[in-house]
Amino acid sequence: MPRVTATGTPLRVAVVGSGPAGFYAAGSLLDAEAPFEVDMIERLPTPWGLVRLGVAPDHPKLKTVSRAFERIAAKPGFRFFGNVEVGRDLTHADLTRLYDAVIYAFGAQSDRRLGIPGEDLAGSWSATEFVAWYNGHPDFHDLEFDLDVERAVVIGNGNVALDVARMLALTPEELAPTDTTEPAIEAIGASTLREIVIVGRRGPAQASWTTQELKEMGELAGADVRVDPAELEGAGAAQDPTNTKRNLEVLHEFALRQPGGKPVVIRFLFFRSPTAIHGETRVESVELVRNRLEEQDGRLVAVPTDKHETIECGLVFRSVGYRGVGLPDLPFDDRRGTIRNAAGRVHDETGSPLGATYCAGWIKRGPTGIIGTNKKDAAETVAALLEDVQEGRLVHREDVSADAVEALLVERGSRPVVYAGWTSIDEVERAAGEKFGRPRVKLRTWDELLDAAEHVAAAS
Ligand code: NAP
Repeated sequence: MPRVTATGTPLRVAVVGSGPAGFYAAGSLLDAEAPFEVDMIERLPTPWGLVRLGVAPDHPKLKTVSRAFERIAAKPGFRFFGNVEVGRDLTHADLTRLYDAVIYAFGAQSDRRLGIPGEDLAGSWSATEFVAWYNGHPDFHDLEFDLDVERAVVIGNGNVALDVARMLALTPEELAPTDTTEPAIEAIGASTLREIVIVGRRGPAQASWTTQELKEMGELAGADVRVDPAELEGAGAAQDPTNTKRNLEVLHEFALRQPGGKPVVIRFLFFRSPTAIHGETRVESVELVRNRLEEQDGRLVAVPTDKHETIECGLVFRSVGYRGVGLPDLPFDDRRGTIRNAAGRVHDETGSPLGATYCAGWIKRGPTGIIGTNKKDAAETVAALLEDVQEGRLVHREDVSADAVEALLVERGSRPVVYAGWTSIDEVERAAGEKFGRPRVKLRTWDELLDAAEHVAAAS
């Protein structure tokens, strides 16, 4: 499919969002036989989405995927416009007017709630807030986590719950070589936490952790793991036999361990759901109900019994999944928290394609899978787009120049951060980290980020 426009000029695609799904979509387009130009539009001044702002800082290997994103950004035809928000600076209508196609890949920007009394008490947090804070998300820099408590309870049995529990338990020596933000290093280092309890509403066989992440909980310098063997009884049938089998092996090994005398204990509880968070002015305890498993529509679900128990704690983190948020003018499936789509083609409530509008990643399929899952996902979306090109369903706008978007942004008073602006931020952060043997010291506020982007970009 070498030549798809009358004059042979490239097709122009806007990719909204610069996390893994956005970058993989951009990479697939720029590697396609037909010529493409990609403008990546990002709300933040920095790219990489959850690779920068979600992946735990003590998992630097996972973050090295950013090198693949840098290679994509270096391809001819790629441009980055950070600090540009669709819905504020540009609308969906602007994008469809300025580009031949749009791919939305802005992830899941919110989190699921428990819907129980006391959820908004001081000391009750969502995992997403904590994760964004320790990773330096500029919208969360002013949160104040009081970790001066004895016990924290983490609700949920996914990898994010493990990240939260592990980060809370890291020693200053474990935190030192990471790019955790300074305030988080200080707060975690000074924390008086002695116990972190991870609570699953179903059994150990239904937990969605990956085994590697679970195993790591037993290898921490400052924390012992504790599993009461009774917690592993009646584990129930596995949904993913391989992963579950390995997880159960790890948990059985944890259950055999003698306390090692480390300052923190991480305890696993299963078959329990929170029903209320109690406290006068801040969290003092969480009330749990015991569950049993019942098969409903082929799935094992947690059904409450009449047994209740209360755990005293000063902090509760709900880690029960992210949730996608829609954009005006885009059909949204509120139940799933995703843009309505079929294999990446956005469609309306009747199932008719919107035309020239696609989605990829978490906003397409929901907040599941690991970073690599987004590669296949984005490839599927780009394949749908290429098919539409081939079938003549995408109209190339010969009359719209590549400069039109910049002109419109200037007219609207936006301050886009181009790729050179991001590399300036990157250089400043890396240079600050080098002195301390850390990968980077992150700039944490909008002003710091925008100043670094403008200052060095202007100098070059
Ligand atoms: P997740 O894997 O979907 O886990 C959510 C957990 O919350 C599940 O255990 C779920 O239990 C539980 N839950 C949901 N509603 C609940 C409620 N009302 N009460 C109690 N528990 C509730 O989501 P996640 O941990 O946010 O992770 C998101 C994705 O990112 C996952 O695919 C994860 O693997 C990935 N991730 C990967 C890594 C890594 O590779 N290192 C790190 C972080 C995240 P049920 O099963 O009963 O619904």
